[in-house]
Amino acid sequence: MKLVTFRSGTTSRVGVADAGVVRDVSELLPAGAGMLQVIEAWDELGPALREVTAALPALPLDSVELLAPIPVPRRNVFCVGKNYRDHVAEFGHSGYDTSGRQQELPAKPILFSKATTSVTGPTAAIEPHHAVTSELDYEGELCLIIGRGGRGITREQAYQHVWGYTIVNDVTARDLQRDHKQWLLGKSLDTHCPMGPYAVTADEITDVTALEIETTVNGERRQRATIKDLIFDIPQLIATLSAGITLLPGDLIATGTPAGVGIGFDPPRFLTSGDLVEVSITGLGRLSNRIA
Ligand code: MG
Repeated sequence: MKLVTFRSGTTSRVGVADAGVVRDVSELLPAGAGMLQVIEAWDELGPALREVTAALPALPLDSVELLAPIPVPRRNVFCVGKNYRDHVAEFGHSGYDTSGRQQELPAKPILFSKATTSVTGPTAAIEPHHAVTSELDYEGELCLIIGRGGRGITREQAYQHVWGYTIVNDVTARDLQRDHKQWLLGKSLDTHCPMGPYAVTADEITDVTALEIETTVNGERRQRATIKDLIFDIPQLIATLSAGITLLPGDLIATGTPAGVGIGFDPPRFLTSGDLVEVSITGLGRLSNRIA
């Protein structure tokens, strides 16, 4: 099932998207429930939605404004740095990696987070934040959506805790990332986490490692990779994070970006106002965001 959060008047609604239409399922949910509550109660709600959704009125998908599937996550988006080999190399050569281990593959996953207020919709404008950065970059990524929470989740159990998948663009202010020698600030500016367009349930995806990700800027392909190229795979990421942190329903884990980001070029190719950045993943749709 492909779920969406969309705007209707002044309220946001939960819908099910299917073949160019969206069906508003908000009336079937507890009053005020959003996507987080849907994920939390999925064991009961999932089968019910599956049964009755097709009978609901259908709106053309392109007639509604899609928001991020989880517009306000309950906490920061967990993120993974340097998780594709070729990206480790380009980041190392760029001069922006202040870790002191520029050329080495990480021995363990590098984890950081993006503030909840960085999340924005799949077609929303990205703010350039000229007052604080002049080096804006993109990072197309597969994002996991946790269903059943837990601590001490093993590799073997990991996929049982994945509710579904979406796409994020881990937009990055490279000068802040470099100068502050940590990643939170450079990764967390408002609107710097476009997300969506769908929250796709895991049962829709036969083999997530076979999915292909592609990022374009103004139509020019910059990134292309397959999820199986991750250095630390999905079970490893969940096992590492949950070893001492309780994962919660609706938690988001952005799995890392492949080679081809702006600082991978010499000279770097930063984003400027008017640029259109698009990130697509097989079966998950496409983010399409313009720099304001
Ligand atoms: Mg990233």
